[in-house]
Amino acid sequence: MPSIPSKEDLKKGFLKYMTGLCICGSNKTKSKCCERFLSGKQHAVTPEQLMRSRYSAYALGGYGEYLLKTWFPATAQGLTAEQLSERTLDWQELEVLSKSQKGDEGQVVFRAKYFCENGKEGVMSEVSSFKRVKGHWYYVGGEVEAG
Ligand SMILES: [Zn+2]
Repeated sequence: MPSIPSKEDLKKGFLKYMTGLCICGSNKTKSKCCERFLSGKQHAVTPEQLMRSRYSAYALGGYGEYLLKTWFPATAQGLTAEQLSERTLDWQELEVLSKSQKGDEGQVVFRAKYFCENGKEGVMSEVSSFKRVKGHWYYVGGEVEAG
């Protein structure tokens, strides 16, 4: 029997956030983690930082502009900032499984847990690719793995 998550479970990510920790689960304070990237004050210097900040953008909602800005133009699939600002899933937890970087190319393998609107839990695994152009990292795309 799948257990139905309580309201507390659903808000776990946000609760963490309210205590000052970054929603990406790095255990760093948000000002020392993704916030400085989301606000545009700083640019991510590693693919992992960009990946985490993009996860945070999805988890918090309202950061469509940021998601577009950090998406390699040719692969953004014509999505609008408005569409990307919507919180379609309740992201709960991010786990970075591995990361690598070779020059201006980077890869991050991660697993993220979420709740759907009906309270069902899901897990998404992705191998994300990143590219550095003129000193800035961009998300190029990802291969979603089942499970
Ligand atoms: Zn973070």
